[in-house]
Amino acid sequence: MLIAIRKTGEIVLRDNARPLTSEEIVADSVQELIASMFETMRDAPGVGLAAPQIGIPLQLAVIEDTETDAERARLPVAPHVIVNPVLTLEGPRDVPFFEGCLSLPGFAAIVPRALRVRVDCLNERGEPVTIRAEGWYARILQHEIDHLNGILYIDRMISRSFTTRENLEQHWKQMPIAEIVRLLGA
Ligand code: ZN
Repeated sequence: MLIAIRKTGEIVLRDNARPLTSEEIVADSVQELIASMFETMRDAPGVGLAAPQIGIPLQLAVIEDTETDAERARLPVAPHVIVNPVLTLEGPRDVPFFEGCLSLPGFAAIVPRALRVRVDCLNERGEPVTIRAEGWYARILQHEIDHLNGILYIDRMISRSFTTRENLEQHWKQMPIAEIVRLLGA
């Protein structure tokens, strides 16, 4: 079932989401929620969706990426679920790239993120798993886990790089990020 995506300005996007127990995760209601989240994410389309983005304050997010892009160290990521994630950055937030969010449609900004992360979480069966990720996948994980803690990319962006999607395509898409940062005096 498609669910409406909440936009910035709604308090649910600024709350700390509640953790789930393993029993709750395997319950029909949460399994149905997960299925609806995948459907909603693919319809949007997006590469990640956190439960608060559909108005549900739970520590749950779905992720799937089907694209490849060498410039962004982006490789396909199989569909999976993270529950109650604990994020560990393996290095500083020093990789800048444009990033958007389904809760802020039509806009993007350069957000510095850590290149590598470790995530300890539960999967969709309530089993503990450790994810090690780098590049674009690490960025997706950082973005989605921020959602579970009431943080949006605009809290971390280089604010002078904030742009409409249209202007991103028209003016910035072909330029190296370091050059954009220099040009903007950011
Ligand atoms: Zn988002």
